[in-house]
Amino acid sequence: MLFHVSRLLQEPVGTKRWYELQAEPPVHGGKATLTRTPTGVLVEAQVDVVLEAECSRCLTAFGYPRRVNIEEVFYQQVDVHTGTPIETEADTDNFFIDRKHTIDISEAVRQYEVMAAEMQPLCRLDCPGICAQCGRDLTESACACTGPPIDPRWQALEALKHR
Ligand SMILES: [Zn+2]
Ligand SMILES: [Zn+2]
Repeated sequence: MLFHVSRLLQEPVGTKRWYELQAEPPVHGGKATLTRTPTGVLVEAQVDVVLEAECSRCLTAFGYPRRVNIEEVFYQQVDVHTGTPIETEADTDNFFIDRKHTIDISEAVRQYEVMAAEMQPLCRLDCPGICAQCGRDLTESACACTGPPIDPRWQALEALKHR
């Protein structure tokens, strides 16, 4: 997801550019607005992604859609005319326009995806998961186990009864 901004960097602060995002996994669409700022380019993007996940109940791999809203300044490192380095207050946590005046939002998308991901994803809301006793995937078929697992302390009592 590259944007070439050498032209935009020659425009006055406040100049905007609008883009439609091309599908490029995990992105399947979206749009971005780039605005020239005093220190670089502000990227505001609504990105539709498919997040890869593993069901927290049955461990099946699946994907689910999410929209992430990115808002980040990409700092300018070199002068667009002369290529000389520009002093910047940005540190290594910030995003940068590369020396060829290109913005790559892939890493920003990746970071925002992590924030947008479900803590306990489910392949479907009523996923029955895996039987805690026999380990069978209950989505495929029911198992013969009944009720909750037997507490080992009750098993000891049962054993006493049958002496
Ligand atoms: Zn599941
Ligand atoms: Zn079972």
